[in-house]
Amino acid sequence: MDINWNFDNSYARLPSSFKENIKPVIVKKPELLLLNEKLADDLDLDFSNIERKKLAELFAGNILPNGSDTIAQAYAGHQFGHFTMLGDGRAVLIGEHINKKQERYDIQFKGSGRTSFSRNGDGRAVLGPMLREYLISEAINALNIPTTRSLAVVKTGEQVVRENLLPGAILTRVASSHLRVGTFQYVAARQNKDELKILFDYVVNRHYPEIIGSKNRPIELLKIVLDKQINLVIDWMRIGFIHGVMNTDNMSISGETIDYGPCAFMDIYDPKTVFSSIDKMGRYAYCNQPMITKWNLARFAECLIPLIDSDQNKAINLATKEINSFDKKYEEKWLKMMGNKLGLSVIKDQDKSLILDLLTWMHQKKADYTNTFCYLMDEEVQKEKIYDDNNFITWKKRWKERLKKSDKSSINYLRLMKKFNPIVIPRNNKVEEALRAAEENNIDPFNKLLKILKNPYVNQKEIKEYQIPSNTNENYQTFCGT
Ligand code: AMP
Ligand code: MG
Repeated sequence: MDINWNFDNSYARLPSSFKENIKPVIVKKPELLLLNEKLADDLDLDFSNIERKKLAELFAGNILPNGSDTIAQAYAGHQFGHFTMLGDGRAVLIGEHINKKQERYDIQFKGSGRTSFSRNGDGRAVLGPMLREYLISEAINALNIPTTRSLAVVKTGEQVVRENLLPGAILTRVASSHLRVGTFQYVAARQNKDELKILFDYVVNRHYPEIIGSKNRPIELLKIVLDKQINLVIDWMRIGFIHGVMNTDNMSISGETIDYGPCAFMDIYDPKTVFSSIDKMGRYAYCNQPMITKWNLARFAECLIPLIDSDQNKAINLATKEINSFDKKYEEKWLKMMGNKLGLSVIKDQDKSLILDLLTWMHQKKADYTNTFCYLMDEEVQKEKIYDDNNFITWKKRWKERLKKSDKSSINYLRLMKKFNPIVIPRNNKVEEALRAAEENNIDPFNKLLKILKNPYVNQKEIKEYQIPSNTNENYQTFCGT
């Protein structure tokens, strides 16, 4: 098989306490359902000469590629605020593939069987949630937001026991790494400073070599991760994405969106929107995402304390200063982002009230978040009647006046808006419909939806039905899907 795998498994060479050497558990009757050819191209991998049956064996982990070194990674995490030792309980890292551009990517199978970190779990994943991760991660990528990617989905041919018997599946996930805040928490909890130093150096070399010469590298790392995570959560807020399980083990050091579980997109604008059935207190609600990002970053900072300075108080002061910079940075970037959504390339003092007044109106009138910005861009949207409202008309006049005063020529504002406001997002009803059909062996609706979501900023033909709000905010529930 000449696929062009080019493995160099640096994480596997780290101390044995960081991982378990383990192979994927063989599955009975693998069947290939999805293969992301465009992503394979970007990785310089060529699957074109391999028959489908072989591909299924490959993406199920029944045949392992030459050069792979399969491991389960150890990590810990605060899950809904409670600290737990975790690790890959149903995933195996196959190896790190390097493409021709010298970019390094983790190749991971999710749903590949039990490991020593499985606790009471069966190590398996169910078809619906793996298809969901494939769809939403590819949609997030197309929205120009950092994310792990999805290369393939196979059905295992085995049943998985949940409330019912469900079809098993394995997702091949591609990530710039699977290093998490939780990876640091795991090593820090073991209170072995040598290991912490090894992990730290590894992360700096792999992700942020630009800080190697800095005076205080741990503080520089904290700064970079803080900036990356602010940018990420701002992007989520921009498009109405609700991650759903922002546990520290689901926050990546690279700044990619990772671990798509009960995530979903908000329809009606309501800051308190929560979809996840297990998030009873709304810890991870839409409006709480920035604050939780900061909370998670504080947990990350705690891990770095022993490396920041030998004087613990000094180290804590330095780290606290960085964490405290979060609010101001977030506010500035949020205003800039909302300005972009409204075609304002420069934000002035009075713009904040313009932005907040629109959001307040949307909230009161239960307007659709995505479609309201589409309407402002003169895109045709459903339920236009809602925009006949007097308060909205007055607001719109104010906005138009403001645009006229803008530094840039008024023709440019639409171009700016079109870069930041998607015309189509994964609507909850459409996602459910596609997953249900796929579970009943009809993958066509899934592929059609996927195709549309690959171009979210472009008005495509025949997408009307994909733009209709599912209006499900109030009663739509998502599940962790383990
Ligand atoms: P997640 O909700 O996917 O972020 O997973 C949280 C933790 O539970 C991770 O350590 C997973 O590896 C583990 N886990 C989730 N589902 C399973 C399963 N079916 N079997 C074993 N471990 C699991
Ligand atoms: Mg996770």
